Amino acid sequence: MQAVILAGGKGTRLAERLGPLPKPLVGVCGVPLLERQLLQLRANGVTEVVILVNHAADRIERFVEGFLVTHDGLSVTTVDDGAPRGTSGALLSVLDRLQERFLVVYGDTLFEIDVARFGDAHRRSGADATLFLHPNDHPHDSDLVETGEDGFVIRFHPKPHPEGAALPNLVNAAFYMVERAALLRWRDFPEPSDFGRDLFPAMLAAGQRLFGYNSFEYIKDLGTPARLDKVEDHLRRGVVARAARGRRQRCVFLDRDGTLNRPRGHVARPEDLVLIPGAAEAVRRLNEAEFRVALVTNQPVLARGECTEEGMRAIHARLDMELGRAGAWLDRAYLCPHHPDAGFPGEVPALKVACTCRKPEPGLILRAAEELNADLARSWMIGDTTSDMLAARRAGVRGILVRTGEGGRDGRYEAPPEHVADDLAAAVGLILAQDVRRESAA
Ligand SMILES: [Zn+2]
Repeated sequence: MQAVILAGGKGTRLAERLGPLPKPLVGVCGVPLLERQLLQLRANGVTEVVILVNHAADRIERFVEGFLVTHDGLSVTTVDDGAPRGTSGALLSVLDRLQERFLVVYGDTLFEIDVARFGDAHRRSGADATLFLHPNDHPHDSDLVETGEDGFVIRFHPKPHPEGAALPNLVNAAFYMVERAALLRWRDFPEPSDFGRDLFPAMLAAGQRLFGYNSFEYIKDLGTPARLDKVEDHLRRGVVARAARGRRQRCVFLDRDGTLNRPRGHVARPEDLVLIPGAAEAVRRLNEAEFRVALVTNQPVLARGECTEEGMRAIHARLDMELGRAGAWLDRAYLCPHHPDAGFPGEVPALKVACTCRKPEPGLILRAAEELNADLARSWMIGDTTSDMLAARRAGVRGILVRTGEGGRDGRYEAPPEHVADDLAAAVGLILAQDVRRESAA
């Protein structure tokens, strides 16, 4: 497999840490970033790397010569593209040197990503390019990407966003798998050009297919002193290693209505969604404690025709923004659109089925667990109904019933919870207290 590293950046914002070094050679816990990238790529089965250099090209070339003397298993070439062309401009200028399919890596990111799995998802999707996406703790001032039910990109939302806009918290992490054939027609694209702001939106407008790969794995740019400090702190504390795809993840599965937000009949419009006090901060505490957080919610409003998929996307975008305001995010959201009983006016017949995902069935939790590589024995479900508690039991995770919403008064199933808590904030407090005890006992 081939990878291209875009290493032409000047690193102006990082100047105080760089001294005479170009940005890709900045020390990260004592090891040059480019060395970390090359080793990470090699460990993931990449055999050939093309490094696009421009600023301080000779220094990077000398570094690569030294690297190749002491490391084998990787063929590395540097190409000086002659002028600052922007991220996609630089790549388009060397298309002839690239293989049919290649990985694009930015020279200012530290990442630990299962490249084989990323590549498999790309191939299965049949997309022209696949973008690594993830939620972050500041969606309001991030370039956001909106995907449809099938995972393909529908729209790009570059910052700044209109005041009060409800947008999904999904950010382009600048890590791509690209089909060379899909780029041939863009050779004469105006320079300088950027993947996220120029080329990908143009490809989308031209009908090319971009797939969004959503993952919790670690990738961060360290283009400013503050970000570099954060990444170094994460490396030292083991945050990066613990977010590896192959590590079993502690997860918290969250019900929506009555647990995160106030129940108000059925939530059918974005403005119906109002968070329970303390809920967003509670989710942020889970994020900070490195729990992966997945929403698992029954939404029979879809089957009953009271809300469309587009409408549900808008509701979840509002949820993302409300959480984002507190620096919190959901790693994933899964919903069951089904409802077993027919006979509602305006219903959607295709969704009127008995399924395996409607809680108390464990289908949603198990699907989330699979995609998040959950360690079920160390994971939790928090919800306000006996149906949530039975789903938790069936999935093999511990259940915490909250007294908000239904507060278990639905009484439909016999499924005593592991704990009862006043609200989501209290439930998260219980989880974190147990987790600390477990960690210190281990
Ligand atoms: Zn279902």
